Amino acid sequence: MSARRNCVLGSHRVLEPPGVLPQVAWKLDATPVVYANEILCDVEALNIDSASFRQISEANDGDAARVAAHVVALVDERGKHHNPVTGSGGMFVGRVRAIGPERAASSELRVGDRIASLVSLTLTPLAIEAIDDIDMSSGRIWMRGTAVLFATGSFAKLPHDIAGDVALAVLDVAGAPAQVRRLVRPGQTVAVLGADGKSGLLACVQARERVGPSGRVVGIAPDATTPGARLLVEHGYVDAFVAADARDVFEMLAVATEALPELADVVVNCVNVPGTELPSILLTKNYGTVYFFSMSTSFTAAALGAEGVGKDVTMIVGNGYATGHAEIALQTLRDHAPLRRYFVARYGARPQPAVSATL
Ligand code: NAP
Repeated sequence: MSARRNCVLGSHRVLEPPGVLPQVAWKLDATPVVYANEILCDVEALNIDSASFRQISEANDGDAARVAAHVVALVDERGKHHNPVTGSGGMFVGRVRAIGPERAASSELRVGDRIASLVSLTLTPLAIEAIDDIDMSSGRIWMRGTAVLFATGSFAKLPHDIAGDVALAVLDVAGAPAQVRRLVRPGQTVAVLGADGKSGLLACVQARERVGPSGRVVGIAPDATTPGARLLVEHGYVDAFVAADARDVFEMLAVATEALPELADVVVNCVNVPGTELPSILLTKNYGTVYFFSMSTSFTAAALGAEGVGKDVTMIVGNGYATGHAEIALQTLRDHAPLRRYFVARYGARPQPAVSATL
């Protein structure tokens, strides 16, 4: 048992079914006792994955109190925030309460440090004592409770120069700007679907930097009048912004005619709704790349969709982790004052208390 308690992958916390790792498990042991190679944190806030929060919100008619009760029941049942409908989770911000002796020896982390988890809530043992507040517009949940990070669970110390709530919003989607930076080449054409959301904005800004003056970035989202869409256009982070529904194949074909006549070398899918695989593929050049960051992506729909329309494109699953992703994402904000002001205004202000749910 003591060897299992030291499992770097966290198998010692799996309650059911046996023989799987925490992400696949149905239920985890979230007991707030630190094992030798774990970090135990007092959680301050959750950033629920956008696809997951949208699904939970819709299932509860947008009612904050019902959403809180839903989240509490889900975490109580599974020992983690793992939405069984979308399969996605989110991440947390909290303060280190205890560090297991094996971790303490090898880490610069100290009890009391504030950190953001960089692994999904779908594999993070989580116990909720109370939900204090929910921001229904961003999927942010302020709560009291505990979470555990395993030996392989990466995290970032919260930066001193960026407010915690803002850093949480950025770090939640840190994989997107890092992967865009890696994928995009000077002179290319890039299309970003869901361009005015968190990951979409960061992806557009990174893409604009990478393509240079001879390249082109096109943002796509349902509404061109949102503050995020206006930010992209006013500050030149996109060369064109098109209001369109990324689920609608015919609207996407119209987008192609209007703004992407030669199609895109790289399409970055950052939407939080299902059903956008084929439209993304149709916007991509033959031999181009589609980067599906969206958690609403269906492997089957993407694979069979590309085959069905005879498109030879490379499709990349949006790995939430990329080397240096946290620093790249935070630096993107530091380097672009208008983007930073937007994130501070949108994600940095805690709204008036709307809900309280205690176990
Ligand atoms: P977000 O801030 O909520 O943004 C979602 C974006 O999708 C918004 O621009 C939204 O536009 C747009 N959208 C919604 N319906 C659309 C439609 N029919 N057509 C075009 N655009 C549409 O979400 P986020 O936090 O950036 O997350 C984006 C996606 O990445 C989500 O699926 C999330 O689950 C996923 N994600 C993946 C990872 C990973 O590791 N791969 C990590 C975190 C998040 P409006 O604002 O106008 O509705």
